[in-house]
Amino acid sequence: MTTATPLSPPGLAARVLAGYGDRVVLHDLYDEAGVPVYHDLAATDTSEIRELLRVARGGTGPVLELAAGSGRLTLPLLALGREVTALELKADMLDLLRERLATLPAGARARCTPVQGDMSAFDLGRTYDLVVLGTTSVSLLDDAGRAGLLASVRAHLRPGGTFLLSTVDRAADAGTEADLDFEVRGASGRRYRMIEHWPPGAPARGVTILPPEREAAAADRVEVLTTSIRVLAAQRLERELAAAGLPVVARHALPAGGPRHVDVLIEAEAA
Ligand code: SAM
Repeated sequence: MTTATPLSPPGLAARVLAGYGDRVVLHDLYDEAGVPVYHDLAATDTSEIRELLRVARGGTGPVLELAAGSGRLTLPLLALGREVTALELKADMLDLLRERLATLPAGARARCTPVQGDMSAFDLGRTYDLVVLGTTSVSLLDDAGRAGLLASVRAHLRPGGTFLLSTVDRAADAGTEADLDFEVRGASGRRYRMIEHWPPGAPARGVTILPPEREAAAADRVEVLTTSIRVLAAQRLERELAAAGLPVVARHALPAGGPRHVDVLIEAEAA
């Protein structure tokens, strides 16, 4: 598993961690220590999968899934009977995906092609009916990366084909607090303390995940996961899509979101 240098948490999280002194062990959310927690939290949110499948159910042609990770969305797409190419940057994530594919019936397994690649510049030499980029992962790319992504997607969609992608917006009633301190429960039932640092207008939100206060107070080591997530307003993304020949035909609000953000699933069509 790759090891990224964990970010130093900003704002309130920095002050909370200072109180735990040298018992704190920092990790990046996508490192070996972070991935099980990421999966535990991601598994509680099935609203995006339901909405994606509702749209995908309308077709039968091949699907390209970008930033597929370990297959949280890939497996449900395969269960619809679609042929799926799963493109992912990191080899260790693809290994996890292959492990999960190995548990499927041979027919479903044979319909999936895992590919290591960069979603901001890829050439698979074929076209698809549907391209999917879920989990608000478009926010992982900067401006140049997004331009490359949209050009690559347009080149891989047949005319009239659909591009489905999710993004996150700050809710209209989000307030002005920079820090928000709250508790969440993973699919396993485990509780996590989450501190989000997101001053109004900031281009990214910092997320720090740690054990609940009582648990941390009693622990010899306080394992802390950090990440920074770029915020990409739906309106801006929609303008970029239209300019790339992918005009938006529908927008679906996802109920999950967070305490002060809303997730939106955008449906664009290759002109
Ligand atoms: N879609 C999966 C899910 O729902 O669990 C994974 C989502 S995870 C938030 C984002 C994924 O994007 C990670 O697996 C990461 O390795 C991958 N990724 C990051 N940058 C990428 C890029 N430029 N091209 C392809 N994949 C990328």
